[in-house]
Amino acid sequence: MQSHEAKEKGEKMSKKFNVAVAGATGAVGNRMLACLEERDFPVDNIKLLATAKSAGRKLSFKGQEITVEELTESSFDWVDIGIFSAGGATSEKFAPAAASAGCVVVDNSAAWRMDPDVPLVVPEVNPHAVAGYTKKGIIANPNCSTIQMIVALAPIHQKVGIKRIVVSTYQAVSGTGKKAIDELENQIKAIVNNEAPQNTVYPYRIAFNCLPHIDVFLDNGYSKEEVKMVNETRKILEDDSIGITATTVRVPVFYSHSESVNIETKQPISAEAARALLEKEPGVEVVDDLENNIYPLAIDAAGIDEILVGRIREDESVPNGINMWVVADNIRKGAATNATQIAEVLAKEYL
Ligand code: NAP
Repeated sequence: MQSHEAKEKGEKMSKKFNVAVAGATGAVGNRMLACLEERDFPVDNIKLLATAKSAGRKLSFKGQEITVEELTESSFDWVDIGIFSAGGATSEKFAPAAASAGCVVVDNSAAWRMDPDVPLVVPEVNPHAVAGYTKKGIIANPNCSTIQMIVALAPIHQKVGIKRIVVSTYQAVSGTGKKAIDELENQIKAIVNNEAPQNTVYPYRIAFNCLPHIDVFLDNGYSKEEVKMVNETRKILEDDSIGITATTVRVPVFYSHSESVNIETKQPISAEAARALLEKEPGVEVVDDLENNIYPLAIDAAGIDEILVGRIREDESVPNGINMWVVADNIRKGAATNATQIAEVLAKEYL
């Protein structure tokens, strides 16, 4: 006879969930659907939500055509898990309504990340934090640039403690959404055809250019994206003592963010030891063979879930310093994959 525990475990594994994807027609939402499908998330029914202008459009999920509906406060009545990728204002307005209807929200926007009653989760780093979802019924997915950096740094922090992080990012236009992908493509076409490139998404031309400007600028001279990296890293690592400074830059790349990460550690660690730690880290692939000119590239990270880490070397200007180059697909691990992994922890351990 099956034990009670084994029966309960079996029931949990076979349990299916009603899922809503808010922002299903967007760059992240689109990937979200593919991710739920690829990872075989136990979906019973799925609801696809977007603005009124997209209502009636059909999107495919597991071979079925699903009609997109307009997102309203009553969209979540029978929904267990709502995955939001529809911008901060939409999450602010609709996530509490969804939570009141009994749905647990996994939110991709910045709206709830720093709320002390909302867990901010990267499943490889702080899966235990998911438990805090009960306070508001919302779990936040961190910023794409934070996710890839923190997965690469967490094992080093755990082993020798990180005192300070200096990060510079090289972020793809897909991080701004569908319209920015079109803007880069149209500008490249215009320039090669000797026509004047138009810009509406970014303040300047992004084609063949770099903009040290992501999100709005704040009174302290930093951009909001830079401050997000600082605050989110401290919240996820549960360590406010880490000094962090960031410079975030938009570059003319379609998919995958690259980051130059410099750290100072509390205890010494060699580049070799850091590499060995990263080789064992789930979700990380060390790509670091300088003799053969092998290092992480945005074009190699695009379309995969792994975070590529390379150029791992000691910083010779300080006693305990390490440099590395970290690259990941911002739409996948930076958004949809991480959100799906959060939903998996939630479904397996808590619902
Ligand atoms: P996007 O391509 O512009 O898509 C936006 C989506 O949100 C569309 O489906 C849009 O529907 C929907 N939407 C917008 N306003 C809405 C409203 N009032 N009600 C219902 N639906 C609404 O943007 P994205 O890049 O996918 O980003 C979506 C969210 O994910 C943002 O919060 C962003 O910060 C976050 N995020 C993005 C990335 C990234 O790398 N792109 C990474 C992490 C997090 P329509 O098609 O009907 O307009």
